[in-house]
Amino acid sequence: MSRTPDAIASLGADRVSGAYTGHAVVVGGSMAGLLAARVLANHFEQVTLVERDALPDSAQTRKGVPQGHQLHVLLPRGRGIVERLFPGYGQELKTAGAVSVRLPTDTLILTPAGWLDRRATGWSLLSASRPLFEWALRRRLREVPGVTILDRHDVTSLLTSRDGRQVIGTTVRSLDDAGSGHRQLDAELVVDASGRGSRAPVWLSEGGYGTPRKTHVDPNVAYASRIYRIPEGFSADWQLVMLASQPPSIPRIGYLFPIEDGQWMVSLIGAAGQHPPTDEDGFAAFTRSLRHPVIADAVATAEPMSPIRGHRGTANRLWHYERMRCWPERFVVLGDAVCAFNPVYGQGMSTAALAADTLDTCLREQRRRRRADDLDGLARRFQRRLARRNAGPWMLSTGEDLRYPTTTGGRVTAVTRLQHRYLDRVVVATTQDPAIADAYTQVLGLLARPTSLFAPRVLAAAARARPNGERGPLNSAPPARPSVPAAS
Ligand SMILES: Cc1cc2nc3c(=O)[nH]c(=O)nc-3n(C[C@H](O)[C@H](O)[C@H](O)COP(=O)(O)OP(=O)(O)OC[C@H]3O[C@@H](n4cnc5c(N)ncnc54)[C@H](O)[C@@H]3O)c2cc1C
Repeated sequence: MSRTPDAIASLGADRVSGAYTGHAVVVGGSMAGLLAARVLANHFEQVTLVERDALPDSAQTRKGVPQGHQLHVLLPRGRGIVERLFPGYGQELKTAGAVSVRLPTDTLILTPAGWLDRRATGWSLLSASRPLFEWALRRRLREVPGVTILDRHDVTSLLTSRDGRQVIGTTVRSLDDAGSGHRQLDAELVVDASGRGSRAPVWLSEGGYGTPRKTHVDPNVAYASRIYRIPEGFSADWQLVMLASQPPSIPRIGYLFPIEDGQWMVSLIGAAGQHPPTDEDGFAAFTRSLRHPVIADAVATAEPMSPIRGHRGTANRLWHYERMRCWPERFVVLGDAVCAFNPVYGQGMSTAALAADTLDTCLREQRRRRRADDLDGLARRFQRRLARRNAGPWMLSTGEDLRYPTTTGGRVTAVTRLQHRYLDRVVVATTQDPAIADAYTQVLGLLARPTSLFAPRVLAAAARARPNGERGPLNSAPPARPSVPAAS
């Protein structure tokens, strides 16, 4: 495999001088694990990433990441971090067929209040299938010195020191050699990135550290997705469509995104138990029932390239590890294993990138404060800082989900109601004012905090905004693409 100059430059360039000698183990080889392993390679001599699945040499879905069949958006905040860790990642995605889209210029976004103003500056995204995002990262990680990927191995337990003060490694079991039993992987740091099914709560409680508390906010969302070939000669002034729900009365969402190989991925999403069917007729009827016919019309003549695949298990779930009284040194948890979101806001991969970035910062600070091999206090500091970084995306996701009266696990307070009313006004303003559409898309892209929507100019625009009246979206034509330079 040939390496690009960027790739070569990145190898070892960030390695912290006088880095920790020693070995770090990462549990789970999906987005969070791959990004964490890249960061750890700057700080440890050896890094072993352990993954249960066989990891393919191409962009394929796999059993351990069942959500890989559904639409995935990599938000600009996350992409920025990934680019820093793997320079040239975006170019590599483009070479593999990812489609560059300018949002909102090249998109139709139907907000609950009408069409988002397409004149906003917004941001650009690379649209691709989830397996492609992951495969491109994996390919790059394999080139990083000191990193070993151990696939078809299951991490079965944490190993701790006799006094229980610190984690000293894990046990792993080969899934190819049933008779080989469990073997020990010694490590100076263990990172759990094993996703929603993480066993960390069980390991911690069985190890005597206490039972972690969790918050669970469930808007009862399910997905159904299908890939289509884009019809030959298809032409429109948009590349991507997002038809939002209108809570609480219309809990249906439709996304159409271009992905590699001249294809569209269409994801239908239903909240409050109105789940999209996975049979042909039901899928077509749900597509037609969205708030605007643009997606149904586009796919009417498109050839399906995949079966319709459903997905449940999408609740917001947050483990409060930062609040635990007892925590073993040298053990950290990140990615969906700590904080998993209702995915309709597209935040999971980007918060996994933020977590890797946080780990990097904490390790660098640790080195400045202590001896090279002293990791005391790191794990706790990391979990606390991660909790703070996850707070904004969590607020955005659960705050919106509480608009459905059927959502379980969260509490609607007077403040929540006020926020909803205010955000309703802001969303109206995004349909009428490109500056406000811009402020809003910055928050959606995790480029600005949700609190930025309370800035004076947004407050003033929200106060001025008048609802779009009876002009229902079905009656209003989507806005035309403004004449601005095409996405690069
Ligand atoms: C329907 C759906 C749509 C989504 N859409 C988006 C989107 O648009 N944008 C976005 O950013 N995010 C999206 N997400 C979220 C995104 O998929 C995750 O946030 C992202 O994959 C990061 O997860 P992770 O790496 O922490 O865990 P996962 O992706 O769940 O991976 C965990 C890995 O750990 C492995 N593993 C588990 N246990 C063990 C063990 N004991 N030993 C070894 N290996 C183990 C698994 O095999 C797997 O590879 C979506 C999620 C869902 C469910």
